Amino acid sequence: MKQLLLASRNPGKCREMRVLLQPLGVEIIDGIELATEVRVDEIGKTYAENASLKAGIFAEHFRIWAIGDDTGLEVDVLEGAPGLHSARLVGPGGSDADRRNRLLSLLGAHPRPWTARFRCVVVLAGPEGEIDMAEGECEGEIIPDERGDGGFGYDSVFLVKGMGRTMAEISPEEKNLVSHRARAVQVLLPTLKERLGR
Ligand code: IMP
Repeated sequence: MKQLLLASRNPGKCREMRVLLQPLGVEIIDGIELATEVRVDEIGKTYAENASLKAGIFAEHFRIWAIGDDTGLEVDVLEGAPGLHSARLVGPGGSDADRRNRLLSLLGAHPRPWTARFRCVVVLAGPEGEIDMAEGECEGEIIPDERGDGGFGYDSVFLVKGMGRTMAEISPEEKNLVSHRARAVQVLLPTLKERLGR
């Protein structure tokens, strides 16, 4: 059976990706279990560069097709921040809760609504250096009080536009219909099928 490696150590991302990639009918290998010695520094200047770094390093190291994403939360009153730096909003060792608290403290001085979007670039990398990518967005608004206990990262403070619920309040199935990651994977699916011979 064909294999596809998830180039991520984020359990929330891997859980979502695994479901989104099910239509391919390939064996999905979790980067969390495999890649103990592979380290990826997010030194790119764009989401595409960072996602390519993540997927490319895994694909090259394990000599199989790998898929990775880089995601950022862009808040309008912060002129698009934290954006590319969303994972590094607090220092090393910080938790998702620390990052949400830091975001809310940055926003405190600004009038609401705090309109925002998640932007995600998903990259498929091949063992011979092949690179394919697609982008997805999800519009919404940051709210000052957390709601819901699903999802991960910034989900509990991100109200999805038109849904009236945060990304942590909607079900995993709903998130995989409307999220930035789901939209990017959807666009990449025909290429994924072609590359993996499905
Ligand atoms: P990265 O793509 O792993 O660099 O993630 C950037 C930051 O955004 C991290 O703090 C993640 O926890 C967060 N993040 C990534 N994807 C999502 C998502 O789907 N929902 C909420 N937060 C996310």
